[in-house]
Amino acid sequence: MRHALSLADKAEALGEIPVGAVLVDSEGNILGEGWNLSIIENDPTAHAEIVALRHAAKKAQNYRLLNTTLYVTLEPCTMCAGAILHSRIQRLVFGAPDYKTGAVGSRFHFFDDYQMNHSVEITGGVLAQECGEKLSAFFRRRRVEKKAEKIKNNP
Ligand SMILES: [Zn+2]
Repeated sequence: MRHALSLADKAEALGEIPVGAVLVDSEGNILGEGWNLSIIENDPTAHAEIVALRHAAKKAQNYRLLNTTLYVTLEPCTMCAGAILHSRIQRLVFGAPDYKTGAVGSRFHFFDDYQMNHSVEITGGVLAQECGEKLSAFFRRRRVEKKAEKIKNNP
């Protein structure tokens, strides 16, 4: 999760919402990394999780990512939960809850509702405070910047 947090910093440096994700195998080797790129890539699907899964699948030349664990700093949305399901990852570990769009218990219960033969082991709230604080600080700063811009444009 520490590594995922450092990837979130990469998103933040680009002006993206700071979320990071890393996929590892059963020995802890890194298979794929991702951070939010939606704004820069003009891609609504470029969430950290999807970027990490794409990276790993391309490298593995396999769309199934069996026996892997995905670490992500924020609770996945429904889109990413779907991608997690389709990639057949074994375990999901996430940091901060997302009460607005979280699909793993905070807003929706994707993995409970979905009747499937593949089940994902889920651990939430890992370094939740640190992961959440990174996001809060980002949005706080952005609000201040937006306000300053407004004042600048309407003196
Ligand atoms: Zn997502």
